[in-house]
Amino acid sequence: MENQIDGQTIQQRRERVLDATTELIQTLHDAYGWFNNEELANTPLRIAKFYEEWFDNRNGFNFTTFPIDEEVMTIMTDIDFYSLCAHHMLPFFGSVNIAYLPRPKGKICGASKLVRATTKVFSKPGTQEPMTVELTDYLYAELEKPLFLMVQVTGKHTCMMIRGVKQKTNMVTSGLRFDEEMKPQLNHLKTEAFEAWRAGEGKN
Ligand SMILES: [Zn+2]
Repeated sequence: MENQIDGQTIQQRRERVLDATTELIQTLHDAYGWFNNEELANTPLRIAKFYEEWFDNRNGFNFTTFPIDEEVMTIMTDIDFYSLCAHHMLPFFGSVNIAYLPRPKGKICGASKLVRATTKVFSKPGTQEPMTVELTDYLYAELEKPLFLMVQVTGKHTCMMIRGVKQKTNMVTSGLRFDEEMKPQLNHLKTEAFEAWRAGEGKN
């Protein structure tokens, strides 16, 4: 069963997470006196439900594709993503740009699938670099090895903003996959993607 991890049912998982979040909130309250009675009673359940909702984003998503005859570069800019860093469990968020060139008689996907794939990959605690690789690999497989695929992720990490160095700097990571036969045109394809991304930036 897709929803079972280590044999735990949904109900068992909910109870364990609720127990742990209750313990965390009560422990923080005992240490720092932060919460009122309503929050002590209900915040643990709100946190537990958030994790459930978030986990569901990883499931039940059908990456539909369509055949295409022409070779046409498809480009999406400014896909929002929201995640939590696995080191501090604090949000990091930003935008994703994607460009791909399908094979002749290859596959394209509906534009919303690129958004859903982004949401799926970032809906778990992680770090930006491996999640960029995961998104690139996921799209490369689902789009049946396009001739060229480039993914760029720009993220702001609140764990760097409210703690530590206290900077709102952007982290930029990228993933690239291409067919060997495209090597002579690689720079041209990258430039086309970069120019289209720049044209689309900040337009939404
Ligand atoms: Zn962090």
